[in-house]
Amino acid sequence: KIDARESLYLVSEYANSYFQKILHSTDQGKAIGLSYFKERGFTDEIIKKFQLGYSLDQWQAFTDDALGKGYKLEFLEKTGLTIVKEDKRFDRFKGRVMFPIHSMSGRVLGFGGRILTNDKKAAKYLNSPESDIYHKSKVLYGLYFAKQTIAKENNCYLVEGYTDVIQFYQTGVKNVVSSSGTALTPEQIRLINRLTANITVLFDGDAAGLRASLRGIDLILEQGMNVKVCTFPDGEDPDSFAKSNSLAELQDYLDANAKDFIQFKASILVEEANNDPIKKAETIRDIVNSISKIPDAIKQEVYIQECAQIMDISENVLFSTLAQISKKDF
Ligand code: ATP
Ligand code: MN
Ligand code: MN
Ligand code: MN
Repeated sequence: KIDARESLYLVSEYANSYFQKILHSTDQGKAIGLSYFKERGFTDEIIKKFQLGYSLDQWQAFTDDALGKGYKLEFLEKTGLTIVKEDKRFDRFKGRVMFPIHSMSGRVLGFGGRILTNDKKAAKYLNSPESDIYHKSKVLYGLYFAKQTIAKENNCYLVEGYTDVIQFYQTGVKNVVSSSGTALTPEQIRLINRLTANITVLFDGDAAGLRASLRGIDLILEQGMNVKVCTFPDGEDPDSFAKSNSLAELQDYLDANAKDFIQFKASILVEEANNDPIKKAETIRDIVNSISKIPDAIKQEVYIQECAQIMDISENVLFSTLAQISKKDF
């Protein structure tokens, strides 16, 4: 007898093969979905590797097909593949290109679907809802494909979106994962921490929310990991940059621009404070707060020394601020 969770896995796996079949073997799939992926520069090989698909632009094409194959409406609804409203059924991902989200062992847990029209009212990306098999706070997109290279290279690149992961992988930087638009969680960081102590966070060049994202990085420091950050030129994200550069150029860019997180944060905060004493005081607290998250006392001391130089302030002040903050935490 198949248990309920297994039924969710099975229907997700069926949907994954269905969406791929639609992409590769139907006129609409080829004309709309496949040509979209080609325009983004994805090769046939990478499209197959990441199991990308297409969901027909019809209200219930997938749902009808799956029901016809004997999959139960209950499980279609629980995975979110089908939305049930009174006596009507709708395909959640109608008219979208599909990115299956895999577990560490390669099972399909859920999907991200990207819209292809310029409809500003509809969400650009739509994701599967939480279910008994899909817990978005515990999954990293791409980890199934990246895990070996992360261990081998002893570093993990963290990007914002699905297409960043795929374009990096295709270009040859395979140690890359994404939290897919949501704030990074401790569980997600733990998944990476089991493979490497080194993480490089790559930000889109839109700078929007850079400050807010910097705060989330304290969670990585708390787990004792070494964090670097790297930004991209204005208007570029890892996807667009990798698309227009060779592997050597991409690797050179990453090597040249990845900066230690604490140093990076200290220097942008100093720039922002711009000699305003009140702002500078806030800034000092902010950076020392990040340093207080680092479990290793020796590393803390090294960072205090470096920040004292970057921010042009005495080490003593920073050490006493650190002592204050640490006391408050316990
Ligand atoms: P693309 O290049 O396809 O336009 P992107 O991956 O560069 O998209 P961003 O706008 O940078 O998209 O967002 C990063 C990630 O955040 C996306 O890959 C997606 O996982 C998530 N995301 C973006 N917009 C939405 C949305 N409207 N709803 C839900 N998730 C979203
Ligand atoms: Mn972005
Ligand atoms: Mn982006
Ligand atoms: Mn993009």
